[in-house]
Amino acid sequence: MPHNTSPLVIRRVGRSPRYRRNRAGGLRTGTMIGVLVVAVSFAVAIALGVSWIASDSPTVGAGAAPASGSGVESSVFGADDGVIPDAEPAGVDSDLPAIARLDPALLDALRQASDAASVDGQPIEVTSGWRSVAYQEELFAEAVVTYGSEEAAREFVSSPTQSKHVTGEAVDIGPLDAQLWLMEHGYEYGLCQTYANERWHFELATTPGGQCPDMRMDAAGDWS
Ligand SMILES: [Zn+2]
Repeated sequence: MPHNTSPLVIRRVGRSPRYRRNRAGGLRTGTMIGVLVVAVSFAVAIALGVSWIASDSPTVGAGAAPASGSGVESSVFGADDGVIPDAEPAGVDSDLPAIARLDPALLDALRQASDAASVDGQPIEVTSGWRSVAYQEELFAEAVVTYGSEEAAREFVSSPTQSKHVTGEAVDIGPLDAQLWLMEHGYEYGLCQTYANERWHFELATTPGGQCPDMRMDAAGDWS
Protein backbone atom coordinates (compact mmCIF):
# COMPACT_ATOMS: atom_id res chain seq x y z
CA MET A 1 0.00 0.00 0.00
CA PRO A 2 1.40 3.48 -0.87
CA HIS A 3 2.61 5.11 2.28
CA ASN A 4 0.71 8.35 1.79
CA THR A 5 -2.71 6.71 2.04
CA SER A 6 -2.11 5.36 5.51
CA PRO A 7 -2.82 8.59 7.47
CA LEU A 8 -6.16 8.92 5.67
CA VAL A 9 -7.14 5.42 6.72
CA ILE A 10 -5.98 6.06 10.26
CA ARG A 11 -7.91 9.35 10.52
CA ARG A 12 -11.05 7.74 9.17
CA VAL A 13 -11.10 5.09 11.84
CA GLY A 14 -10.40 7.72 14.46
CA ARG A 15 -7.16 6.57 16.02
CA SER A 16 -5.71 8.72 18.81
CA PRO A 17 -3.12 11.44 17.98
CA ARG A 18 -0.48 9.52 19.88
CA TYR A 19 -1.18 6.55 17.69
CA ARG A 20 -1.02 8.71 14.56
CA ARG A 21 2.34 10.18 15.51
CA ASN A 22 3.76 6.72 15.58
CA ARG A 23 1.85 5.65 12.54
CA ALA A 24 4.36 3.30 10.90
CA GLY A 25 4.99 1.28 14.05
CA GLY A 26 1.35 1.67 15.08
CA LEU A 27 0.16 0.26 11.82
CA ARG A 28 2.44 -2.71 12.09
CA THR A 29 1.32 -3.35 15.67
CA GLY A 30 -2.31 -2.97 14.63
CA THR A 31 -1.84 -5.39 11.79
CA MET A 32 -0.11 -7.86 14.09
CA ILE A 33 -2.94 -7.62 16.60
CA GLY A 34 -5.47 -8.05 13.80
CA VAL A 35 -3.72 -11.17 12.55
CA LEU A 36 -3.51 -12.50 16.10
CA VAL A 37 -7.20 -11.90 16.72
CA VAL A 38 -8.11 -13.66 13.47
CA ALA A 39 -5.78 -16.57 14.24
CA VAL A 40 -7.15 -16.97 17.77
CA SER A 41 -10.70 -16.78 16.42
CA PHE A 42 -9.93 -19.54 13.96
CA ALA A 43 -8.31 -21.66 16.66
CA VAL A 44 -11.34 -21.26 18.91
CA ALA A 45 -13.72 -22.01 16.06
CA ILE A 46 -11.76 -25.11 15.12
CA ALA A 47 -11.62 -26.27 18.75
CA LEU A 48 -15.37 -25.72 19.11
CA GLY A 49 -16.01 -27.50 15.84
CA VAL A 50 -13.92 -30.47 16.88
CA SER A 51 -15.59 -30.75 20.27
CA TRP A 52 -18.99 -30.40 18.61
CA ILE A 53 -18.17 -33.22 16.22
CA ALA A 54 -16.80 -35.28 19.10
CA SER A 55 -19.92 -34.74 21.19
CA ASP A 56 -22.10 -35.47 18.19
CA SER A 57 -20.36 -38.66 17.17
CA PRO A 58 -22.13 -40.91 19.69
CA THR A 59 -25.36 -39.71 18.11
CA VAL A 60 -24.09 -40.50 14.66
CA GLY A 61 -22.90 -43.88 15.91
CA ALA A 62 -26.26 -44.55 17.51
CA GLY A 63 -27.88 -43.44 14.28
CA ALA A 64 -26.04 -46.10 12.37
CA ALA A 65 -27.12 -48.69 14.91
CA PRO A 66 -30.29 -47.57 16.65
CA ALA A 67 -30.94 -48.46 20.24
CA SER A 68 -32.85 -51.55 19.18
CA GLY A 69 -29.47 -53.10 19.75
CA SER A 70 -27.55 -55.64 17.80
CA GLY A 71 -26.78 -58.87 19.56
CA VAL A 72 -30.11 -59.00 21.35
CA GLU A 73 -31.39 -61.68 18.99
CA SER A 74 -28.89 -64.07 20.46
CA SER A 75 -30.14 -63.38 23.99
CA VAL A 76 -33.13 -64.88 25.76
CA PHE A 77 -35.41 -62.21 24.32
CA GLY A 78 -37.60 -62.95 21.36
CA ALA A 79 -40.59 -61.71 19.44
CA ASP A 80 -42.86 -61.88 22.52
CA ASP A 81 -40.63 -59.26 24.18
CA GLY A 82 -40.93 -56.98 21.18
CA VAL A 83 -37.69 -57.95 19.47
CA ILE A 84 -37.52 -57.11 15.77
CA PRO A 85 -34.49 -58.73 14.16
CA ASP A 86 -31.99 -56.13 12.94
CA ALA A 87 -31.83 -57.84 9.58
CA GLU A 88 -35.62 -57.91 9.14
CA PRO A 89 -37.32 -54.61 9.93
CA ALA A 90 -41.08 -55.01 10.27
CA GLY A 91 -43.75 -53.50 8.06
CA VAL A 92 -46.48 -51.47 9.74
CA ASP A 93 -48.96 -54.32 9.15
CA SER A 94 -46.74 -56.96 10.75
CA ASP A 95 -48.24 -59.42 13.26
CA LEU A 96 -45.13 -59.19 15.44
CA PRO A 97 -45.96 -58.15 19.03
CA ALA A 98 -43.59 -55.18 18.57
CA ILE A 99 -46.15 -53.82 16.08
CA ALA A 100 -49.40 -55.39 17.20
CA ARG A 101 -48.99 -54.15 20.80
CA LEU A 102 -48.42 -50.54 19.83
CA ASP A 103 -50.92 -48.00 21.06
CA PRO A 104 -53.81 -48.30 18.54
CA ALA A 105 -53.86 -44.57 17.83
CA LEU A 106 -50.14 -44.53 17.12
CA LEU A 107 -50.39 -47.59 14.92
CA ASP A 108 -53.28 -46.10 12.98
CA ALA A 109 -51.35 -42.87 12.37
CA LEU A 110 -48.27 -44.85 11.39
CA ARG A 111 -50.20 -46.91 8.86
CA GLN A 112 -51.70 -43.81 7.26
CA ALA A 113 -48.28 -42.19 7.10
CA SER A 114 -46.81 -45.38 5.67
CA ASP A 115 -49.36 -45.42 2.86
CA ALA A 116 -48.46 -41.85 1.89
CA ALA A 117 -44.75 -42.49 2.24
CA SER A 118 -45.01 -45.53 -0.01
CA VAL A 119 -46.72 -43.42 -2.66
CA ASP A 120 -43.72 -41.09 -2.40
CA GLY A 121 -41.44 -44.08 -2.84
CA GLN A 122 -40.16 -44.06 0.77
CA PRO A 123 -41.67 -47.13 2.44
CA ILE A 124 -41.54 -47.02 6.23
CA GLU A 125 -40.01 -49.91 8.14
CA VAL A 126 -40.22 -50.34 11.89
CA THR A 127 -36.94 -51.25 13.58
CA SER A 128 -38.40 -51.16 17.09
CA GLY A 129 -41.87 -50.67 18.53
CA TRP A 130 -43.47 -52.02 21.69
CA ARG A 131 -40.96 -53.62 24.07
CA SER A 132 -41.46 -55.67 27.23
CA VAL A 133 -40.09 -54.25 30.48
CA ALA A 134 -37.51 -57.04 30.57
CA TYR A 135 -36.36 -56.29 27.03
CA GLN A 136 -36.10 -52.57 27.80
CA GLU A 137 -34.08 -53.42 30.92
CA GLU A 138 -31.74 -55.48 28.75
CA LEU A 139 -31.35 -52.66 26.21
CA PHE A 140 -30.64 -50.21 29.03
CA ALA A 141 -28.08 -52.56 30.59
CA GLU A 142 -26.38 -52.92 27.20
CA ALA A 143 -26.33 -49.14 26.80
CA VAL A 144 -24.68 -48.75 30.21
CA VAL A 145 -21.90 -51.05 29.03
CA THR A 146 -21.67 -49.25 25.67
CA TYR A 147 -21.67 -45.69 27.04
CA GLY A 148 -19.87 -46.34 30.32
CA SER A 149 -22.40 -45.11 32.86
CA GLU A 150 -26.13 -45.03 33.57
CA GLU A 151 -26.08 -41.26 33.15
CA ALA A 152 -24.55 -41.48 29.67
CA ALA A 153 -26.78 -44.41 28.71
CA ARG A 154 -29.91 -42.43 29.60
CA GLU A 155 -29.16 -40.04 26.73
CA PHE A 156 -29.79 -42.86 24.27
CA VAL A 157 -32.01 -45.43 25.97
CA SER A 158 -34.80 -44.68 28.39
CA SER A 159 -35.10 -46.65 31.58
CA PRO A 160 -37.97 -49.20 31.62
CA THR A 161 -40.10 -46.91 33.78
CA GLN A 162 -39.71 -43.98 31.37
CA SER A 163 -39.63 -45.61 27.97
CA LYS A 164 -42.47 -44.85 25.63
CA HIS A 165 -41.60 -48.09 23.87
CA VAL A 166 -42.71 -50.09 26.93
CA THR A 167 -46.13 -48.42 26.84
CA GLY A 168 -46.37 -48.88 23.06
CA GLU A 169 -46.31 -45.15 22.46
CA ALA A 170 -43.13 -44.93 20.38
CA VAL A 171 -41.67 -46.40 17.23
CA ASP A 172 -38.20 -46.38 15.74
CA ILE A 173 -38.33 -46.33 11.98
CA GLY A 174 -36.00 -46.77 9.05
CA PRO A 175 -34.38 -46.56 6.63
CA LEU A 176 -32.84 -43.09 6.54
CA ASP A 177 -34.99 -41.92 3.62
CA ALA A 178 -38.14 -42.91 5.52
CA GLN A 179 -36.87 -41.09 8.62
CA LEU A 180 -36.34 -37.95 6.57
CA TRP A 181 -39.77 -38.34 4.96
CA LEU A 182 -41.41 -38.67 8.39
CA MET A 183 -39.48 -35.70 9.79
CA GLU A 184 -41.03 -33.63 7.01
CA HIS A 185 -44.53 -35.14 6.79
CA GLY A 186 -45.09 -36.87 10.13
CA TYR A 187 -46.98 -33.95 11.68
CA GLU A 188 -49.69 -34.40 9.04
CA TYR A 189 -50.52 -37.62 10.90
CA GLY A 190 -49.68 -36.35 14.39
CA LEU A 191 -46.30 -38.11 14.35
CA CYS A 192 -43.35 -36.20 15.75
CA GLN A 193 -39.65 -36.78 16.29
CA THR A 194 -39.40 -36.17 20.03
CA TYR A 195 -35.66 -36.46 20.74
CA ALA A 196 -33.21 -34.26 18.85
CA ASN A 197 -30.56 -36.99 18.97
CA GLU A 198 -32.86 -39.78 17.69
CA ARG A 199 -34.08 -39.00 14.21
CA TRP A 200 -35.59 -42.50 14.00
CA HIS A 201 -37.80 -42.22 17.10
CA PHE A 202 -41.38 -41.00 16.61
CA GLU A 203 -44.36 -40.61 18.90
CA LEU A 204 -47.94 -39.51 18.42
CA ALA A 205 -47.37 -36.06 19.87
CA THR A 206 -49.76 -33.70 18.15
CA THR A 207 -53.11 -33.72 16.39
CA PRO A 208 -53.04 -34.49 12.66
CA GLY A 209 -51.74 -31.38 10.91
CA GLY A 210 -50.86 -29.78 14.23
CA GLN A 211 -47.54 -28.45 15.38
CA CYS A 212 -45.06 -30.86 16.91
CA PRO A 213 -43.80 -29.91 20.38
CA ASP A 214 -40.22 -28.75 20.86
CA MET A 215 -37.88 -31.71 20.82
CA ARG A 216 -36.12 -32.84 23.95
CA MET A 217 -32.37 -32.91 23.51
CA ASP A 218 -32.17 -36.60 24.34
CA ALA A 219 -33.90 -39.42 26.18
CA ALA A 220 -32.47 -38.14 29.46
CA GLY A 221 -35.18 -35.50 29.26
CA ASP A 222 -33.16 -32.34 28.75
CA TRP A 223 -35.08 -29.77 26.76
CA SER A 224 -33.33 -28.23 23.82
ZN1 LIG B 1 -37.20 -45.12 20.15
